[in-house]
Amino acid sequence: MTSSSSSLCLVATPASTTPSLLEEPTMPPRLNTITVHTSLLFDPQRKSWLPNVSIQVNTQTGAIVRLQHRNTSDLLSPFEPNDIDLRGKFVLPGFVDSHTHIFLRIERPHSQQMRDQSPVERTVRATNHARAALLAGYTTYRDLDTEALGNADANFRDCINRGIIPGPRMFVATEALASSGGYEIRTENKLASGSSLGLSVPRAADTADGVVGVRAAVRRRVGEGADVIKFYGDYRRRTMRFPPDVPGPGGRILFPPERRNPAVLLFTQEEMDAIVAEARMARMPVAAHTGETRTALMAARAGVTSVEHIFEDSEGVMEEMFEEMARQGTIWVPTLMTAEAYYGGQDIFRWCKMAVKRAYDRGVRLAAGGDTGVMNHGLNVREMEIMIEAGIPVEDVLVAGTLTGWHACGGDACGFRFGWWDEGNRADIIALDADPRKDARALRHVSFVMKDSRVWKRNGRPVDMIAATQWPEEDRNTSDDSSDPTDFVPESAVEEA
Ligand SMILES: [Zn+2]
Repeated sequence: MTSSSSSLCLVATPASTTPSLLEEPTMPPRLNTITVHTSLLFDPQRKSWLPNVSIQVNTQTGAIVRLQHRNTSDLLSPFEPNDIDLRGKFVLPGFVDSHTHIFLRIERPHSQQMRDQSPVERTVRATNHARAALLAGYTTYRDLDTEALGNADANFRDCINRGIIPGPRMFVATEALASSGGYEIRTENKLASGSSLGLSVPRAADTADGVVGVRAAVRRRVGEGADVIKFYGDYRRRTMRFPPDVPGPGGRILFPPERRNPAVLLFTQEEMDAIVAEARMARMPVAAHTGETRTALMAARAGVTSVEHIFEDSEGVMEEMFEEMARQGTIWVPTLMTAEAYYGGQDIFRWCKMAVKRAYDRGVRLAAGGDTGVMNHGLNVREMEIMIEAGIPVEDVLVAGTLTGWHACGGDACGFRFGWWDEGNRADIIALDADPRKDARALRHVSFVMKDSRVWKRNGRPVDMIAATQWPEEDRNTSDDSSDPTDFVPESAVEEA
């Protein structure tokens, strides 16, 4: 990616004997700008901390206008009333969570949420999740399917983009692709399809089979407004062979096998190849759910952008997989937070941490994404904490939580630049009160959050989360008010014509 190789554009200015009074002659006019002054700024491209940088942002475009290096921690220009002083804090680009589910919450089994919970409640809860994530420093979410809510994530994304609710910038998958019977809500009360007998449940995936079928499914996702294509490379799809235990006498399978329902492949190599080829035509990134190393190896060969999870190595192909991933530049989103939730204290979780460190040593790119929703939104940084606990240097973990997240969203193809610093990038700036190089819990102490130049948290407190009602402006231009309202033509209809 050419953009990531460009280095941080910093303009050095001379120190002054009277720095606080010196007008900086090279600074552009300060109309519609805010300058954020820092004394320690993390640069994901250099993996280093830069001293004394001021960031000028444009509040109309939401972009960074200028990055200026100061030779001292003092300020060179007069401190303007709306300037922000983050000197003494640890400043980073806004975090990117590369694997989230905005419509999932922790308190209830995920199959029950899909089957029983109202779309209204799930949506209202999602607004809380979005706010919690933003206040935790997450300015971008890569949201990998709605879990039986159709394309509602695209509508939810649009609500944030329209300024209706606060939340991270969202890149959504709408529905994940799965092969027949691969990812659905299981019930023993499901008789022949089409029959009026038995439960009718919402669909949990866009089902597609064969090279032609999966290409059509990708095309459907593109048309429905997805930003990223997700497919289930494997899944524990043989649930109904030994159905889950239920309460009461006779409710338990008496002699289940040791591996009751292991993850098994959903797609052939040819199908995976076709998914990636079709997504590339639409310039979209592809995320593959891969519980097993074998699946991740196939997905990497297909050229996916990222593989998600990888909790087991049943066939002993881990090293071959890492080799292929390093060669292809495949990003691994290990979702350690969810591994900890499911398997904490067990061998599986120990294996996950070992494998992540091994991947790092082998040069595999890592992005931080917690499968957030399985764990609470707002506690997203736990993913990065576990990466650090696994032995990965703090700076590399911060890259996984920022710059590589941008690559996972498609890099420049996603239409925005964020997760690293340059003029023209989105003005996503967060600050920690504690030093993450020394304090294992520092990432939890986000005291400042700016997204698209708008401040949402300051001095550790939410700002502007509920917009005040405003009276219409008296001098509003009313020249169009006489036009016939029936003339209205939806913009999209014009565009599609
Ligand atoms: Zn997930």
